[in-house]
Amino acid sequence: MKTLGEELEKFKSKKDISRDLLNSYSEALTNPFFKELVSNINKNSDELMKYTSLLEESACEYEKCSTCKNLLECKNKITGHIFTPVIIDNNLEFTYSPCKFQQKYNKEYKYLNNVTFFEVSNELKNANMKDIFTDDASRLEAIEWLMNFLKKYPKVEKGLYLHGSFGTGKTYLIAALFNELAKKGIKSSIIYWPEFLRDLKASFNTDFKERFEYIKKAPLLLIDDIGAENTTDWGRDEVLGPLLQHRMQMNLITFFTSNFDIELLEGHFSVSKDKISVVKAKRIIERISYITETRKIIGKNRRK
Ligand code: ADP
Ligand code: MG
Repeated sequence: MKTLGEELEKFKSKKDISRDLLNSYSEALTNPFFKELVSNINKNSDELMKYTSLLEESACEYEKCSTCKNLLECKNKITGHIFTPVIIDNNLEFTYSPCKFQQKYNKEYKYLNNVTFFEVSNELKNANMKDIFTDDASRLEAIEWLMNFLKKYPKVEKGLYLHGSFGTGKTYLIAALFNELAKKGIKSSIIYWPEFLRDLKASFNTDFKERFEYIKKAPLLLIDDIGAENTTDWGRDEVLGPLLQHRMQMNLITFFTSNFDIELLEGHFSVSKDKISVVKAKRIIERISYITETRKIIGKNRRK
């Protein structure tokens, strides 16, 4: 059994603790950001003072936000986020919530979730229809086609086979169109064909089926740089052929970019290893021709 002295000691230390809590809470309240923060929390001060140091951390982040001009200036622990108190099931908890700049950014770039990029460069995510107009006249036919497509969508029947030399902006133009449509909620995929085929082959024992199904069903698909892959029987007859067949039957719009015009592409598909397969190549070309219109793009190499 504890002595009266021990009991009193315990009582005293409890009192000490609550006095310390109160002291640090009162001191924290002299900071206007802290004061403002706790005034918005639906809890009494007895409860709040248990969380003084966490609340101070949060108030400190709000203070930094009060003079911040944009995301690049952010000085908080997690860029674009504020350590924030929230009430969950009547308990005070803390979470990182996006600041006003982060929220604006998330809203503006939300459309990017609508375009799936496979193995293509990140700069395509910024490709923008508006930037295209400032460019040279040699690409006008292709641009006109794309503008018309944008205007008519979804009342469109064919995609585009866009060919021309390396670096003329073929991929960029179609990515810009897809980004524009993404802003209207339309989903699309861009696959860099040579790499996609390699990956698909490597995924044979894992998620091959999911990948293949995904591009078979994408509402809008760009097969980027067709003709730059090595022709194999497998790629041509097991992947590309069925893919085009499916998209053709389902009326799904497919775009292509290539350095080859359609005749050269036919030649490309005719030879795999040492085998000549004129008929198989012809069948691929027939499908591409059936589901697309063709434009050529000329101009300088824009790659830096
Ligand atoms: P291609 O697919 O014809 O080989 P790209 O689309 O990759 O060419 O374009 C080549 C480079 O030029 C890329 O770095 C791309 O971002 C840039 N580019 C092309 N068109 C534009 C444009 N209208 N505005 C800004 N950059 C562009
Ligand atoms: Mg390209």
